[in-house]
Amino acid sequence: MTDPQTTDSAEAAESSAVRMEDIVSLCARRGFIFQSGEIYGGINGFWDYGPLGVELKNNLKAFWWRRMVRERDDVEGIDSAIITHPRTWEASGHVANFSDPMVDCRDCKRRFRADQLDQPCPEAPAKRQVAECNLTEPRDFNLMLQTSIGASQEDATTAFLRAETCGSIFTTFKRVRDASRQKVPFGIAQIGKAFRNEINPRNFTFRSREFEQAELEFFCHPDQSARFFEEWRELRLRFHRDLGFEEASLRMRPHDSDELAHYANAAEDVEFLFPFGWQEIEGVHDRGSFDLTQHTEFSGKDLSEFDEEAKSRFTPAVIETSMGIDRTALAILCNGYVEEELEGGEKRNLMRFAHPIAPIKATVLPLSKKLAEPARKIAANLRRHWNVFYDDSGNIGRRYRRQDEIGTPFCVTYDFDSETDQKVTVRDRDAMTQERIGLDQLEGWLRDHLESGL
Ligand code: ATP
Repeated sequence: MTDPQTTDSAEAAESSAVRMEDIVSLCARRGFIFQSGEIYGGINGFWDYGPLGVELKNNLKAFWWRRMVRERDDVEGIDSAIITHPRTWEASGHVANFSDPMVDCRDCKRRFRADQLDQPCPEAPAKRQVAECNLTEPRDFNLMLQTSIGASQEDATTAFLRAETCGSIFTTFKRVRDASRQKVPFGIAQIGKAFRNEINPRNFTFRSREFEQAELEFFCHPDQSARFFEEWRELRLRFHRDLGFEEASLRMRPHDSDELAHYANAAEDVEFLFPFGWQEIEGVHDRGSFDLTQHTEFSGKDLSEFDEEAKSRFTPAVIETSMGIDRTALAILCNGYVEEELEGGEKRNLMRFAHPIAPIKATVLPLSKKLAEPARKIAANLRRHWNVFYDDSGNIGRRYRRQDEIGTPFCVTYDFDSETDQKVTVRDRDAMTQERIGLDQLEGWLRDHLESGL
């Protein structure tokens, strides 16, 4: 087993049993994720989620929301506008500083991030790395996507599509605190779209121009920020473990002091071992009092709090946990993908999704089309609780394989004996074991198995 703390990305990627091509091809074929605007040749950095992809993503968001908002009484949720007041982005420093240093290749005219030159040159991948090409000096390139608001060109105001979801959490801090009668320490959470004009979108959905984030800003007294940072770091790690990531594919990477923003006290990335190496899927940051201090200064509204004990005012510090939904969904797909050789040499492709994330929880299969009517009734009944699929086409073995490939935890088979004994056979995706369950027990059995331990 590889040691995650010492293995470097390139080595780790080489040892990965999963190939990105297989994931990309399965995602397109089975309708998880495909290129946006595909019939027009696609648009770089934008992706569409199909029927299974949207279920997977919604399940991930629901699981995050449950853990971060519903199960806690010190976190409130919001859903804010994608375009907010442009001053928000001046205060946060995005307008002035949200840029990547870029270099241009004088020969092929392609543009690259200056910190990502250790990749094969797209013109001659076998011959040289990008670093060896005829490159310009690095220049800063702002990643904010702009738009204009207003009917006529003359009156139009330039606005930005948010580059992260947290901006409005800071601007709504006072309103949410008062409306929900919270007191610091407490947090505000949001899931939503973010946009970055990435120069080099790559690695499938990993680096996209439109993506979703799930962010929490936890406001606390600056004296308590180190304690809350530790607490959130542990909780976030536990969340990723509960998504079913293998221990050897998950690690926390503390930022070096030269990586830290000037105002930050600490930062760690949650990293996953993708087929292309160790990469960040979430950042956990102790941002000090920077955000509310900036928004106080730019808005002229006092965002400080009163400390009853010390009888003095303070500007709350912020612990931020910022997870990419699309990156985490991609990690779930890479983590779940298995090509298994069965006894007798037969092969099966399998997605080992954790139960809360699986797009389809169970599929009902009549052994013969003659049994369609009672089997459809079972599916309709179960659909009141879960996303349940019905499939009566093809032989039973092929139907099982189709479900294995998309990670359905349970297949429920209705056969001719079911007519008399009122029982069905439930097959487990991973162990391939089969159990005979009474129809009157089925719903409870599935609930126990799908929801236990969570
Ligand atoms: P990177 O260094 O990889 O660009 P970042 O440090 O800029 O990432 P943050 O600003 O901390 O990322 O954003 C928080 C999370 O949002 C990231 O951990 C990631 O999961 C997600 N994210 C950021 N940029 C993108 C992107 N271009 N495409 C998809 N997800 C992204």
